[in-house]
Amino acid sequence: MRTPIIAGNWKMNKNPKETQEFLDGIKGKLAESGVEAIIGAPAIDLSTLVAGAEGSPLKTAAENSYFEDEGAFTGETSPKALSEMGLDYVIIGHSERRQYFKETDEDINKKAHAILKNNMLPIICCGETLEQREAGKAEEWVTGQIENAVKGISAADLVKSVIAYEPIWAIGTGKTATADQAQEMAHVIREKIASLYDQDTADKVRILYGGSVKPANVKELMAKEDIDGGLVGGASMDPESFLALVNYQ
Ligand code: PGA
Repeated sequence: MRTPIIAGNWKMNKNPKETQEFLDGIKGKLAESGVEAIIGAPAIDLSTLVAGAEGSPLKTAAENSYFEDEGAFTGETSPKALSEMGLDYVIIGHSERRQYFKETDEDINKKAHAILKNNMLPIICCGETLEQREAGKAEEWVTGQIENAVKGISAADLVKSVIAYEPIWAIGTGKTATADQAQEMAHVIREKIASLYDQDTADKVRILYGGSVKPANVKELMAKEDIDGGLVGGASMDPESFLALVNYQ
């Protein structure tokens, strides 16, 4: 059985003070829902986030890291330092990083290896543009992204990792993919993992859907067989909304 995940992705929002306010807002309220709750925050907020999550079921994620542990890489964030700080996950390959910061599949693969080597887990994002979907190329594109991202990763490491399918046209637009569209692609991704590894590995890896997930649509998405959770931007910023997502059952 795959434990469901609700993972917030705050993007470049909130400062340390606002992070603390959010933590105060959810304090003691993340009861035993059976859902793994994760918050992904900007690098500048991570010390506050990790300190606030200590002793609670909340897991923590960085939104990016570099693939070298240290060195002359001005402005980058070391995966080794993130691990030493106590982070659990790192989100990699988000479409905003691919689009605005020119991250390539090769970078994302190197980051996945660096994160796993440092005893954290990657949340590997993938997703197609509207043009690709309309041209009938979405499945080919997304499975290609996944194949490149997981190169050289062992089955043992992959089953602990998380994949997030986020169609770019559904991110921050209020335009959610239908639960059927999300399920269809999650299934295609699982089949791809089965072909690259084996069915057992594919059955264990958790696949999230992201793109305008909110309390009003989370239940329908989570009911789908291959969808194990949500990667949530806008609706993860407010404590009440985040708690409603985690308690969707
Ligand atoms: P959204 O963002 O929930 O605001 O659409 C999702 C994401 O980009 O991870």
